[in-house]
Amino acid sequence: MPIAKVNEDGDITILKHIHFKCTGCADCCRLNNIPVTEKDVQRLLDNGIEVDQSLESLSPVLIPSTNVKGGFIKAYVLRKKPFVKECAFLDENLLCKIHSFKPLACQLYPFAVRKSDEGFIAIIHPDTVCTFIDFDVKEEESNTIEIVQNLILLLSLE
Ligand code: SF4
Ligand code: SF4
Repeated sequence: MPIAKVNEDGDITILKHIHFKCTGCADCCRLNNIPVTEKDVQRLLDNGIEVDQSLESLSPVLIPSTNVKGGFIKAYVLRKKPFVKECAFLDENLLCKIHSFKPLACQLYPFAVRKSDEGFIAIIHPDTVCTFIDFDVKEEESNTIEIVQNLILLLSLE
């Protein structure tokens, strides 16, 4: 679901008023396949994590694409713990062991971006497992603008 359009100058047009605050429940770290970009891999290497410690497999898997509606992309995914589905970097206190250099998908979650002709569209991740997004809010209760400003900041650092 689109929540805002952002043009190349960074102007934001809100499409959907929502409210979201991460509770740290870690459901997203337990239930998702986390796609890993080349930059993510480089960030892991730069911080002393070997690729074979971090990637699930050297065979890419299909995950839902944020750029092609209803489509899939081939991507490498973060390693899971043996015999469970949760991310190998989730600690026993539900904290991320690589928080300061985690993959971009984790930084953006439960949101993602889809490229557009003018810039990008901020969307709720098509595969979201997060149940803490409130869609039934009035404009004055919404924090869509802060969410999208944060997405712009994260993308500018990539
Ligand atoms: S599922 Fe949602 S609330 Fe829970 S940690 Fe992930 S983003 Fe935060
Ligand atoms: S890298 Fe960190 S934030 Fe991303 S899924 Fe794993 S534990 Fe969660």
